Amino acid sequence: MEVITFDEAYKIVMSCVSETGAEPVDFIGSLNRILAEDIASDMDMPPFNKSTVDGFACRKADLDHDLEIVETVAAGMQPMKTVTKKQCSRIMTGAVIPEGADLVFMVEDSTILPSGKVRFNGSFTKENIAFKGEDIKIGETVIKKGKLIRPQEIAVMASVGCTSVLVSRKPVVAVISSGDELVEPISKPGLSQIRNSNAYQLLAQLLRAGALGKYYGIAKDDKEATFELVKQAISECDIVLLTGGVSMGDFDFIPAVLEQAGVKILFSRINIQPGKPTTFGKHADALVFGLPGNPVSSFTLFELLVRPVICRMMGYYLNPAIIQLPMKDSFSRRLAERQAFIPVVITPDGFVSPVEYHGSAHISALSIADGMITLQAGVKTIKKGEIVGVRQI
Ligand code: AMP
Ligand code: MG
Repeated sequence: MEVITFDEAYKIVMSCVSETGAEPVDFIGSLNRILAEDIASDMDMPPFNKSTVDGFACRKADLDHDLEIVETVAAGMQPMKTVTKKQCSRIMTGAVIPEGADLVFMVEDSTILPSGKVRFNGSFTKENIAFKGEDIKIGETVIKKGKLIRPQEIAVMASVGCTSVLVSRKPVVAVISSGDELVEPISKPGLSQIRNSNAYQLLAQLLRAGALGKYYGIAKDDKEATFELVKQAISECDIVLLTGGVSMGDFDFIPAVLEQAGVKILFSRINIQPGKPTTFGKHADALVFGLPGNPVSSFTLFELLVRPVICRMMGYYLNPAIIQLPMKDSFSRRLAERQAFIPVVITPDGFVSPVEYHGSAHISALSIADGMITLQAGVKTIKKGEIVGVRQI
């Protein structure tokens, strides 16, 4: 099959996404979910003209006079008195501005006279009043559909009385490892075996991406057994992730098994390093990714392709922050046929430096890395001091 560019692969996977739909949750439990409705305010904010300082509410025209204090207005109480000529009310931050007053001067700018009156001894700069509806008007949208809910959004929901919200359902994602050499982490591998690290890395990546991971275990390098597992996963999940068995080896039959299960393969080679044999296909019931078995490749392709798909399924456009920093030293590669994704550290003095990396099985290199940079196909060298974009991992 034809080798496509990363950008082409990205477009293909994104074009296959359908949204998961919405479910109601209590607003307190909506952190990190994606909002599936617009939220409108049920009231003006602030709901009344309120003082933004502790001080004295009076008429601007009376600032030059000694003022009689007619009452004290605390936050949470209704003023009883109207402020008229040469009068004021002592007022607290957040309290309702009394009738008649059009400004509040601060306690810090006042002197209480022996007569009990108060004198303004500052110079006028502003009214210190937050007016009714100046932040938000009743009925106005305060948070838009598709927003990732953070603590700030929860505060907005609380302030408009939105205690139940619609959020996007989390995609259910199957994880299947494949390979006769694999044993689970609890076991000590035999002479020709290794531990299955991909499944647990993927389950953690899924959790971090806001999806529900569902582990189906290790598929032996056996067509029938793999087929049964894949069929079951497709029927139960929104996305199926397989790792291993997508290269050119004698036992790499994942693409064939996928086709047998009714998956339409849309690509099986991307011109990138690592992760070239990544396979992607579409079934009526699920999207299926055949990720390479190498842990670094599996990790990278999840971040580059699977994570944006998961977000998009929830109605969210993932736009990872890229930090622009200079290279500590120059970097070269021998071959430049493929677009490369290279794990890097950010040094304490703010430079980018590739981690020592022995290829796509070198999982501990990823553990040292702070992020990755990319080199386009055809680019062999990055110069010392050149600015590169680091995507955090
Ligand atoms: P494959 O894609 O099956 O040819 O596997 C490529 C390499 O990744 C081989 O060295 C495998 O042993 C290794 N590998 C495959 N699956 C896993 C896994 N689940 N955990 C760790 N390494 C794996
Ligand atoms: Mg294998």
